[in-house]
Amino acid sequence: MPRWRLRACPRCGGDSYVDNDIDGWYEQCLLCGHRRELKDIEQFMKRPVRTTGKHGDLDAA
Ligand SMILES: [Zn+2]
Repeated sequence: MPRWRLRACPRCGGDSYVDNDIDGWYEQCLLCGHRRELKDIEQFMKRPVRTTGKHGDLDAA
């Protein structure tokens, strides 16, 4: 399900949506078709960052 970003297009200021394909995440404008790759999709999606154990010895238990 695409996520909408209103007036996010840098070219025409139109409404864009965020979706992904085999190349990764991108944002595409409905009005002019302008498309750009999203490098910082993790920030956009607000995913929790997976962290490793501080001591690194959890696997030895
Ligand atoms: Zn546009």
